[in-house]
Amino acid sequence: MSLPKTMIAVRTHGPRDYRVEEVPVPTPGPGELLIEVDACGICASDMKCFTGGELFWGKEMSGGYLEGPCIAGHEYAGHIVAMGEGAAEKHGVRLGDRVIAEQIVPCEECRFCKDGKYWMCHVHHIFGFKHYLNGGMAKYCLYPAKARVHKVPEALSDGEAAYIEPAACAWHAVDRGEIKPGDTVVICGVGNIGLCMLQIARMQGAGKVIALDAKDYRLDLAREFGADLALNVVTEDVVARVREETGGYGCDVYIEASGNPAGIGQGLQMIRKLGTFVEFSVFNEPATINWTIIGDTKELNIHGSHLGPYCYPKTIAAIADGTLDVKPLLADAYPVTDFAKAMEASLSGGVLKNLVVPV
Ligand SMILES: [Zn+2]
Ligand SMILES: [Zn+2]
Repeated sequence: MSLPKTMIAVRTHGPRDYRVEEVPVPTPGPGELLIEVDACGICASDMKCFTGGELFWGKEMSGGYLEGPCIAGHEYAGHIVAMGEGAAEKHGVRLGDRVIAEQIVPCEECRFCKDGKYWMCHVHHIFGFKHYLNGGMAKYCLYPAKARVHKVPEALSDGEAAYIEPAACAWHAVDRGEIKPGDTVVICGVGNIGLCMLQIARMQGAGKVIALDAKDYRLDLAREFGADLALNVVTEDVVARVREETGGYGCDVYIEASGNPAGIGQGLQMIRKLGTFVEFSVFNEPATINWTIIGDTKELNIHGSHLGPYCYPKTIAAIADGTLDVKPLLADAYPVTDFAKAMEASLSGGVLKNLVVPV
């Protein structure tokens, strides 16, 4: 099969300056795979980057994480259409296989990588944020030799396959909660990832899953996804309600997925002594709390959560066998040429995931 020489891609030129451009189709070198992208999800981090987040662009536009211009997107799977020398053996794949690469490409040399903690790689290259690691908002994408590649069943829709990445992140966050059978688990913030966490917490034996959010339509969705209780943080005294539900003790596990600093203090209040607090969300501003509660008052476990390490195979299997239902979390699909509309829809505050489809 001969591939076209060029393709249409979305490239990051600056805050609110992402351009639909014609770029060369890359050629896979040794160990590399060229995939034809099925569809690519728009992540909250894509939105933060698009709107000029300092984490990505740095103070006064220098020293941020983003090294562009590059092709955006890190939530996508695709089919292998070309392979460099040794790539089939390296990744255990064949031409035509449907695959996904984890969002991070580990350096394999830093102390974290050498210790199996590749998701904390010191170098930290993630697809779609570096000009030398282009992402999935294009017809084709190159997976480097060091990419962590997993097979994806054909039975998954393009949207479900694009959702593997966020679902794997949700899975890792729930794993970090170290849920014991019967635990009461509170998920603060039920955006599409929170709704995923809710299902995973249930799979892991939570006795009671409680969803918190400020928006009623999200809470309705949480109920549909099986939350035992869905409480509005604006109109209800949620700390008192959670204590009531737990014989006065408080929840065993609290997962912060709202990105609102108020979610932290509230969580520390409603969690029981010796409980586990998982920090998943990303904040635009600092949060101020009295740390005494972590030590002297409750002796809490504070667990951070980043990316979806070692979670891709189980996430793929759970989506494939229907235990993890992500179909209702998907919104609309836009051709890559309509990226502006897709981003606008994502920024409008809806809870579901929008997709960009290559042309
Ligand atoms: Zn993402
Ligand atoms: Zn590394």
